[in-house]
Amino acid sequence: MSDEFDKNDQSMEEALEGNVENTEDTKDEYEKICFLCRRPESVAGQMIDLPNNIHICTECMQKSFDTMNQSNINYQDLMSNMPNIGMIDLSTLQNQIPSSQRIKKRSKKKEPKKALDLRNIPAPHKIKATLDEYVIGQEYAKKVISVAVYNHYKRVATDTMDEIEIEKSNMLMIGPTGCGKTYLVKTLARLLDVPLAIADATSLTEAGYIGDDIESVVSKLLAAADNDVERAEQGIIFIDEIDKLAKKKNTNQRDVSGESVQQGLLKLLEGSQVEVPVGATSKNAMVPLTTVDTRNILFICGGAFPELENVIKERLNKQASMGFGADLKDKYDRDDNILEKVTVEDLRNFGMIPEFIGRLPIVFTLRGLTEDMMVQILKEPKNAILKQYQKLLALDEVRLEFEEGALRAIARKALEKHTGARALRAILEEYMLDIMYEIPKDDSIGQVIITKEYIEGNGGPRILLRGQEIPQLEAHS
Ligand code: ADP
Repeated sequence: MSDEFDKNDQSMEEALEGNVENTEDTKDEYEKICFLCRRPESVAGQMIDLPNNIHICTECMQKSFDTMNQSNINYQDLMSNMPNIGMIDLSTLQNQIPSSQRIKKRSKKKEPKKALDLRNIPAPHKIKATLDEYVIGQEYAKKVISVAVYNHYKRVATDTMDEIEIEKSNMLMIGPTGCGKTYLVKTLARLLDVPLAIADATSLTEAGYIGDDIESVVSKLLAAADNDVERAEQGIIFIDEIDKLAKKKNTNQRDVSGESVQQGLLKLLEGSQVEVPVGATSKNAMVPLTTVDTRNILFICGGAFPELENVIKERLNKQASMGFGADLKDKYDRDDNILEKVTVEDLRNFGMIPEFIGRLPIVFTLRGLTEDMMVQILKEPKNAILKQYQKLLALDEVRLEFEEGALRAIARKALEKHTGARALRAILEEYMLDIMYEIPKDDSIGQVIITKEYIEGNGGPRILLRGQEIPQLEAHS
């Protein structure tokens, strides 16, 4: 008994002398241990302190919440029946994260905006030179489009609308499918760094009918300009398949997708303030609206106009068969470039309404692709399909070459499909599949030569091992 007393006495003395640290400090020396998984703080990470010296690691806490959420018990109801007990709502915890822990959203890199002032617009010959790097042939079209675009943006930049009114250079492009209409416009927009919207005339209908409203083309442009109205107002809208809007002959029904769409496009082409939905193609209560002025938007319409040739021929034959200068009746039947003789009159006979054609003052045609052009398209543009495959194989350190005869054979096959240059990729893909599959198997292959025989189906590609590569292929073509 006396011993015990002594001990107490001693500890009292020590405490008084300050030998024992106070209780708060002692607590800090020890690691907290999770009440559920029993792991110490150094292993389980930060602990959540609960009353009565209970600590729970964040992982266990999360698990318990998850189990609660998965079970079907409605804790809200349960708790509301029990006074003084509340539930922690994890979502509110999220909001309480101190601002120092919040990740700031990465701000988009601000690119220096190309303000369109007069000095910045590339001269027509420069525009054409850049187009040349990508688009093969179509010299006339490239020239017309370069001048038109130059004039258009000069007009936009100087804003000379009031004094001598320079007419808007909206364009109509006529050319067979796959000859580069869309590609030309896309390349142009990229070069000028202006937003571009590509719309399909067949999907447009008069407002109120199933299909896209006519004004949806402007919403598309707005989206392409990242909802920046000012940028959108200097953009380009390309409406493809415009020939499908031709007035239908011999019909009594209301034409909601043809002639009415032409009518509806009139005010857009000319320039007007339109209210467009942001981020949607049709107006409804849920989407915000904004006003876009289409005065400076360049409209380019394109189409294949398949029956137009006959309309032109008919007119030319009629002219030719009259009077002393009467010509052979089938003179124009063999003319491949008859489309180039198109006049406004022909377009009207085709079914375009005069007001519509009147708002597209620049009309030009593109030629159908020839075998030579196809071969050039395969190998010459900056991002030519062949170059793409060569680069892919070069990553495996294999050289890929094509014999000239092989390229011609591919071009001929593509011409048979009548879908223009679009067919090239599909055909090449078919032949390259086996090669792309087999080559990576064998490390010793150093060069693959695609031969004419391989394309024509009576032979295979030439495969050369490393060290045997032929530096100059010309000898084999
Ligand atoms: P469309 O005239 O029907 O609008 P596109 O412009 O979409 O045809 O052409 C389809 C593809 O064919 C393009 O993406 C492009 O790669 C290729 N192409 C067509 N014409 C040319 C051309 N003249 N020069 C280079 N590539 C072309």
